Amino acid sequence: MGLSRLFVRQVRTIQRQARSMSYQLKFDKAFVNQKWVAAASGKTFDVVNPSTEQVVGAVPDMDENDVSKAIDAAGEAFAAWGQTTGKERAGVMRKWYELLVKNQDELAKLMSAECGKPLSEAQGEVVYGNSMIEWFSEEARRIHGEVISSPVKTKEMVLIRQPLGVVSLITPWNFPHAMITRKAGAALAAGCACVIKPAEDTPLTALALAKLAADAGVPPGVLNVVTCARPGAPAVGRLLCEHPRVAGISFTGSTAVGKVLYRNCASGVKRIALELGGNAPFIVFSGADLDKAVDGAVACKFRNCGQTCVSANKFLVQEDVFDQFVDKLQKKMKALVVGDPFAPGVNLGPLINNSQVTKVTQIVEDAVAKGAEVRLGGKQVPSLGKRFYEPTLLLNVDPSMVCYSEEIFGPVAVCVRFKTEQEALSIANSTKSGLAGYFYSSDISQAWRVAKALEVGMVGINEGIISAAEAAFGGVKESGFGREGCHHGIDEFTYVKYLCFGLSQ
Ligand code: NAP
Repeated sequence: MGLSRLFVRQVRTIQRQARSMSYQLKFDKAFVNQKWVAAASGKTFDVVNPSTEQVVGAVPDMDENDVSKAIDAAGEAFAAWGQTTGKERAGVMRKWYELLVKNQDELAKLMSAECGKPLSEAQGEVVYGNSMIEWFSEEARRIHGEVISSPVKTKEMVLIRQPLGVVSLITPWNFPHAMITRKAGAALAAGCACVIKPAEDTPLTALALAKLAADAGVPPGVLNVVTCARPGAPAVGRLLCEHPRVAGISFTGSTAVGKVLYRNCASGVKRIALELGGNAPFIVFSGADLDKAVDGAVACKFRNCGQTCVSANKFLVQEDVFDQFVDKLQKKMKALVVGDPFAPGVNLGPLINNSQVTKVTQIVEDAVAKGAEVRLGGKQVPSLGKRFYEPTLLLNVDPSMVCYSEEIFGPVAVCVRFKTEQEALSIANSTKSGLAGYFYSSDISQAWRVAKALEVGMVGINEGIISAAEAAFGGVKESGFGREGCHHGIDEFTYVKYLCFGLSQ
C-alpha cells in the first residue's frame, strides 16, 4: 500500500481517535532493508497521544539481534551507495524532498498526534525538516576535495573526502521529523547508509519518513528505522556505537545520554557527533526594542511547550527596563492558548509524558519553596488532561533554584534582573551548557562584543528563532560538538583521505 493511502487512513483514525479509543495504527512495524519488520520476539510497545493519553499505535520492541540485522543491511547497502556519484544521490534525495512536500500536511498531523505539538507548529517543523533534505540534496554535488601545494617537486598531494560508511542516528522525540532529516540528509548526501533509532515516544513520523525515502528510490538498506521501548534503549544504543560495521554515530538528546554514548564509542574509536541539552540565556539590554524582545521571547520560550533545546532558559533583563519587560511578557503569556494540538488557535499542547509533567512540577515547586514569586500560571490544567501545564512566569529567582541553573525544558519563564553587561555575561556563561544564546540590544558595538563573549555555538541577535538548513546548528561545552545543517553538516559523515603521488623525474 502506498504511503498516501496509509496516511489517509492514519489521519482519519487520528482524528477519530481524538474522540474515541477505536484507533488502529497502520505503521505497526519497523522499516529495515525496505521491508516492514516485526521484532523477532514479537514484542511491541505502545505509542501514546500525549494530549488524550490514548494509544495511537504499537511498534516493534526490537532488541540487539533485530538491530544487528539492520546494521548488516546498511553495511551491504553501503557497498553500492557509497560508490554512487554526488549527482546520483542528489537526484534520489530531490525526489525524497518532493514526496515530503507532497505529504507535508499528513506528516504534520501524524507528528502532532504522537508528540502533541500544535498542528501549526508541526507544519512549521515539517517545512524545516523537509528543507534539510532539499539542502543536502544540493550539497551532495559539492563534496569537494583539495589539491595541496606540494613542498617538493617529486610529489603531488591531494585530499579527497569519503563517506564514513554505516552510521547510527539516535534522535529525540521533541522534533520527530527535523532531528532525523538534519542527520539523514547529510549522511545520505555524503554516501553513508544509516540505521535510525527514533525516540520511544515518536517512532511513527520516523517510519513515515523512511517509507517516503523508499518511494523516492533510496535503495534498500540505505535508510533503516529500528524501534525499541525505553528500557531497551541502553543496550540497543550500545550496539549502535560498538557494532564493528558501524563507523560513526550522530546523537541528539540529553547530555546525560550523550556522555554514555561518547563512552560507548571510545572502545572502537568511533566518530561521534553530539547535539545535547541547552540552557540558553536570553538577555535584554536597556535601549533594546522591548516589544520586539518580548515577541522573540515568547516565540523562543514557548515553542513545543518549552521543550526545545534552544529554548530560552533564563531571561536576563537590565534593571531599568526589567519591570516594563516583565509586564509586557506577562501580557503576551496570558494570551497564549493551551489546549488540544489539533484545535485552531492553540499555542501550547501537552508536555510529552508523565515524567516531564513531574519534572516541570518539581522545578516550579522547588522555586516556590525557596521564595520565588509565581507571577503567572504555576500549575497543571486538569480540565484539559493530565499532561497540560500553564505558561508560567517566575520572578525573584536565585542560583539556589533548579530553574535558575538547570535546563527547564517546559513552559516556565524565569526573569532575572542585572545591572551591567559584565554581570549579564557572567550569569549567562555560568552553566556547563553552550548551545544557543540570545540578546536584544540597539548598540552595534555591544552586539559584536556580547556575541563574541557568549559561550555558545549559536547566537540570536535581536532574533528569537534562528534555525535554518543553511546555518550551522550545534553547541560548545556540554552541549556537544559537531554541526548539523549548512555545508558543515556533511563534515560529520565524511573523512579526509590524503593521497600522495610520487612522481618519476
Ligand atoms: P534523551 O532521553 O537523551 O533521548 C534521546 C534519544 O536517546 C531517544 O531516542 C532515547 O530513547 C535514546 N536513549 C535514551 N537512553 C539511551 C541510552 N542509554 N543509549 C542510547 N540511546 C538512549 O533525550 P530526550 O529527553 O528525548 O530529549 C531532551 C533532551 O534533548 C534535552 O536535553 C534537549 O535539550 C536535547 N535536545 C538537543 C537538541 C540539539 O540539537 N542539541 C535537539 C533536541 C533536543 P527513548 O526515547 O527510548 O528514551
